[in-house]
Amino acid sequence: MERLRSAARKAGRDPSEITLVAVTKSVDVKEIREAISGGLRVFGENYIQEALEKVKKIRDKTKKWHFIGHLQTNKARDAVRYFSCIHSIDSVKLLHQIEKEASKLQKQMDVLLEVNLGGEETKYGFAFNQLQDGLEASKGLTWSGVRGFMIIPPFREDPEAARPYFRQLRELLQQKQPDFPTLQELSMGMSHDYVVAVQEGATMVRIGTALFGERG
Ligand SMILES: *Cc1c(COP(=O)(O)O)cnc(C)c1O
Repeated sequence: MERLRSAARKAGRDPSEITLVAVTKSVDVKEIREAISGGLRVFGENYIQEALEKVKKIRDKTKKWHFIGHLQTNKARDAVRYFSCIHSIDSVKLLHQIEKEASKLQKQMDVLLEVNLGGEETKYGFAFNQLQDGLEASKGLTWSGVRGFMIIPPFREDPEAARPYFRQLRELLQQKQPDFPTLQELSMGMSHDYVVAVQEGATMVRIGTALFGERG
């Protein structure tokens, strides 16, 4: 947390603008409780089944759970029930499914559109030329607010290799804001490249390894 604050200050940014999402995939409940004692408030999970077991055990309404993994439409109900924000909306179909479930539960959801700027076939997300469709689809929704974009850039050891993707995502957000003013959030940056992401405007960083160690 201190390193993130210091990265924000060095980048000339207010640390309170940046949410640290502690990624707890494969991290057990005991460790999550320790993380809560240490001051972490927002947790990110990738797999619904794994997440539900933990969320139900922790039962702490003051903590927020964000879903950051690939979400199948048949898991949308659980995602809406147990999470406050979904970073990984990757199709119009999924967006509509979230809206449907959120409407049933009368629950306001924050969602982010995942953008596959690297054009990688192994990654999910809207391709650059499909993003407008996702945004247009968000216009008619009542329960799901599209708050911004998320990216997982192609993995390179060198964090500088991620910079062009982070920058492009920020420019894309700025470009779309006049038509879609709810777009404010940039979910970008992981353990190895969050400093670069913060320099490029990240408002949410998703950090696992740097908090909990290497996953087994
Ligand atoms: C696992 C994961 C992270 C965290 O990665 P670390 O390198 O462990 O910080 C962030 N975002 C997503 C989508 C992930 O799946």
